[in-house]
Amino acid sequence: METKYIFVTGGVVSSLGKGIISSSLACLLEARGFRVTIQKFDPYINIDPGTLNPYEHGECYVTVDGHEADLDLGHYERFTNMRTTRANNITTGRIYQNVIDKERHGDYLGKTVQIIPHITDEIKRNVKLLGNTGNFDFVITEIGGTVGDIESLPFIEAMRQLQWELGDSALCIHLTYVPYIRAAKELKTKPTQHSVKQLQEAGIRPDILVLRTERDIPADMRRKIAQFCNVSADAVIQSVDLPTIYQVPLKMHEQHLDEIVMRKMGVPVEGEPDMAAWMHFVHKLENAERTVTIGLVGKYVELQDAYKSINEALLQAAAYNDRKLNLVYVHSEKLTEENVGEKLAGMDGVIIAPGFGQRGIEGKFVALKWLREHDVPTFGICLGMQCMVIEFARNVLGLADANSTEMDLHTPHNVIDLMDEQKSVTDKGGTMRLGAYDCRLAPGSRVARAYGRDLVSERHRHRFEFNSDYRARFEEAGMKCTGENPATGLVEVVELPDHRWYIGTQYHPEYSSTVLSPNPLFLDFIKSAIVYGEEKMNK
Ligand code: GLN
Repeated sequence: METKYIFVTGGVVSSLGKGIISSSLACLLEARGFRVTIQKFDPYINIDPGTLNPYEHGECYVTVDGHEADLDLGHYERFTNMRTTRANNITTGRIYQNVIDKERHGDYLGKTVQIIPHITDEIKRNVKLLGNTGNFDFVITEIGGTVGDIESLPFIEAMRQLQWELGDSALCIHLTYVPYIRAAKELKTKPTQHSVKQLQEAGIRPDILVLRTERDIPADMRRKIAQFCNVSADAVIQSVDLPTIYQVPLKMHEQHLDEIVMRKMGVPVEGEPDMAAWMHFVHKLENAERTVTIGLVGKYVELQDAYKSINEALLQAAAYNDRKLNLVYVHSEKLTEENVGEKLAGMDGVIIAPGFGQRGIEGKFVALKWLREHDVPTFGICLGMQCMVIEFARNVLGLADANSTEMDLHTPHNVIDLMDEQKSVTDKGGTMRLGAYDCRLAPGSRVARAYGRDLVSERHRHRFEFNSDYRARFEEAGMKCTGENPATGLVEVVELPDHRWYIGTQYHPEYSSTVLSPNPLFLDFIKSAIVYGEEKMNK
């Protein structure tokens, strides 16, 4: 089948969930046996979101090939079987950088380089890049931002041209918002009409409208929207707020989103998507009666997107263990020796979050000491793992002032140190140790038992590492290095085997956890938390 291109745009306001709608559609199309990929085009000028503060942009997701990416790519992977790469996330910055590089190289042969056609051509080339591999039946392109933003104009124009060139092989889904005005007790369609008009002014007629709303939109109102917006009545779909994003594919299928897309693109509609495994998961998620309480110790606790992949990996692992997840954010800056017991006593398990810099770090040490001494299931991820090592060095090995050279350049005991390959690095963007690396797990270790394998591949995003000069001292005192990179010997996992579950990973296992393939380490952590929680209750 010739590759079909689906564009997803947004109107009225941001944060409507274009990423979830794109992922849900991809999930349904995959469940019909199609090969699908999703790419996100972000209109900002940063080359990638790797240098962005979580306050600006939430979590930074990492692809297997080491691209620091928008968190929507995390949704794409969690909802499907796809593995995204750097080709799945393009920013305005990258488009301009490519064009300027070509200009310096002399590729434009003396022409004046302009937004149209040079920037738009580069956008079009990137839209088609994945499609041209022949690996996909559908390429879904999500355009970040909202229609009408100055920044997104070149993307919208490129999309208009592509729609014209591709005919029936291109389609536009426009996502808008239908607000409910409480005082008037009315849903309002005017913002949707305006935003469709704005798209039409740019020369694009949306084929399908998805209306995000808090309340059910009556059928006659949807018909009215169809009429005003030149969209067929059955192609106006509502996306009512749901208790979990994982219901969205099912709700979209109930309204035939997948069929409408296929019909409009001339793809024969046969049978139904096989959503059995997905429904099994959602059923578990919705019907879990008991709860597992997990604390997340970090410094971005007020931001719901800062630890997105960790939250989702925990939720998946809890659901597969027939538990509702009660996730409690614990602000690392507010933890002290005095209040740590009170703050953590209610937890069945605790995650020590990844991060950068000094802020909140001492609170992580306080938490870790308490968790280690009380034998609470504890999972340190990246900086969290490094903190486990530092806390152990200070309080068990007796190396006062042990630290990471990230926090204290002159520490007498640099148990965490800058990686050799990082020593000559000066640029901040895209220069960490990024992407998937193999990790060999010590046979019989807790981590190897959790995975059920001795060799895994997980994704990284860091500059500092366990300092192997100290390895023997740690191992003698009980902290074992149970995972290492087979090529370089870098320590990737530490654990305390005499504890019920005390594991730190230099890598980020949360990035690879999906609905249909939850990460084994998260599953095992939650299992252990459940056992501990039950023991606590029966005491
Ligand atoms: N700041 C640490 C490092 O660069 C940990 C990074 C992280 O947690 N992602 O090594």
